[in-house]
Amino acid sequence: MADVDRRRFLAAGAAAAVVAFDPAGLGWVTRAQAETGTGGVAVPGLDGELVTDDAALAEAAEDYGQIAHRRPRAVLRPGSVEDIERIVRFAGAHGVAVAMRGQAHSTFGQAQAPAGVVIDSRTLAEIHELTPRGAVVDAGVTWLDLFRAATAAGLTPSVATDYLGLSVGGTLSVGGVGGASSRHGFQVDNVLELDVVTGEGKRVRCSPQVNRDLFEVVLGGLGQYAIIVRAIIRLVPAETTARVYRLGYSRLTDLTNAQRIALADGRFDYLEGQVVQTDSGWGYLLEGAVYYSGADVPDDAEIQRGLPAPDTAEISALPYFDWLNRIYDLVEQLKALKFPSPWLNLFLPDAVVEPFVDDLLATLTPADTGGGPILLYPMPRSLLTRPLVAVPDSAVVFLFAILRMVAPPDETTVSRLLADNRAAYDRAVAMGGKQYPISAIPTRFADWPTHYGAEYRRARLAKSRFDPRGVLAPEQGVFG
Ligand SMILES: Cc1cc2nc3c(=O)[nH]c(=O)nc-3n(C[C@H](O)[C@H](O)[C@H](O)COP(=O)(O)OP(=O)(O)OC[C@H]3O[C@@H](n4cnc5c(N)ncnc54)[C@H](O)[C@@H]3O)c2cc1C
Repeated sequence: MADVDRRRFLAAGAAAAVVAFDPAGLGWVTRAQAETGTGGVAVPGLDGELVTDDAALAEAAEDYGQIAHRRPRAVLRPGSVEDIERIVRFAGAHGVAVAMRGQAHSTFGQAQAPAGVVIDSRTLAEIHELTPRGAVVDAGVTWLDLFRAATAAGLTPSVATDYLGLSVGGTLSVGGVGGASSRHGFQVDNVLELDVVTGEGKRVRCSPQVNRDLFEVVLGGLGQYAIIVRAIIRLVPAETTARVYRLGYSRLTDLTNAQRIALADGRFDYLEGQVVQTDSGWGYLLEGAVYYSGADVPDDAEIQRGLPAPDTAEISALPYFDWLNRIYDLVEQLKALKFPSPWLNLFLPDAVVEPFVDDLLATLTPADTGGGPILLYPMPRSLLTRPLVAVPDSAVVFLFAILRMVAPPDETTVSRLLADNRAAYDRAVAMGGKQYPISAIPTRFADWPTHYGAEYRRARLAKSRFDPRGVLAPEQGVFG
């Protein structure tokens, strides 16, 4: 083991900054400790900083779900992509796990790295270029910043998540679904190119034309094969206004049939739906939006033609960006309350949606959701092109999500809801469903071959090729 190069300490910045690693004690050595004689292997010089202070470690052990709290031993705030390459290589050489953390909106510790290094992508968050073809962005950019900048230039990414405060790298690692998925697939289906740092610490550019095998596993790859550092996101011209249709039904089949009709003819640019609690039980709400500019206002009767007659209909108009960003403030307020959020997110085949949802709702109580929304909406399978975003084998796929909140926090309720999630997942799998792995579903290693089906082989080969030491994103649990 080499002695720490004391000259590095002078350049290393704050006393809390890490300057060396002690493999024997499995610990990072701060500048202050090194000055008192603690040895170790010198950490490569960095443009940013590697820290071990309590606040940084505690933050990296938290996420939106407030259920899993696994502390890393250090946090990298990269000052450059080279910092990520350096630390991934260094961690690989010493058997230390690494996870990139975007905005930590996972619900079950997916971005954590117990006793490892968490890389905070927020320090690499620049929009480099916006052209009609695409936006060149760092992985730490939030969709909020990208949509704001793009719409100011009359452009827009094709697909927005419901909440925009998520990082580009974070949603591209899982899929990125929203109301526009009915027309454009997932966010991962709308990426032109990626720059990534593989599990071996190599920076590689990949796209449908170049290094396609890497491109295809990184998108929706749960951070397993490489860290996304930069992306080119497809942009299209933006309309200025959203005309929004909220059609209320008292029967589930009316909602799902209305959604199927609208999906088939593409009358909405945005198509979602919700199950809502009403005084007389469950109600069902279709939420559709049509985007337009200037005087080209959609004809409301035409838009609703042929749909099952709703019990209630609300029609409104909002500026396009305000519509996309409508839940941001609410989510920020909820996040500050830190209520545990054991979310269940499933993709269901069209044929089983009604029996599955009806069965689950029959026993679901207000305490089981905590007032969190229940989403239900369809998208065509043909638009979902990325092999590692697992979806059911069905021409139409429904997202069904119970975004539960436990308020006030209560561990017994959280445990019960995690078990409920697992039971619902098992039922969904038996009926041809998949989980959307942003959920809080207790999974086992053996679940992943089933999850990926025929693509599991691709996943396994990619892991051994691009992250042979198995250092990346350990808490996803995909490879044990
Ligand atoms: C309020 C709220 C609303 C949401 N709405 C939607 C929605 O409408 N549609 C939808 O699809 N999802 C939605 N999500 C889920 C969200 O897309 C995922 O949780 C996503 O992973 C969060 O992005 P993040 O930046 O917070 O990622 P993190 O939680 O920080 O990371 C998630 C995973 O990706 C990995 N990762 C992060 N960045 C990178 C990177 N640059 N390269 C490689 N791996 C990386 C992490 O290691 C981790 O495994 C929502 C979540 C919340 C809390």
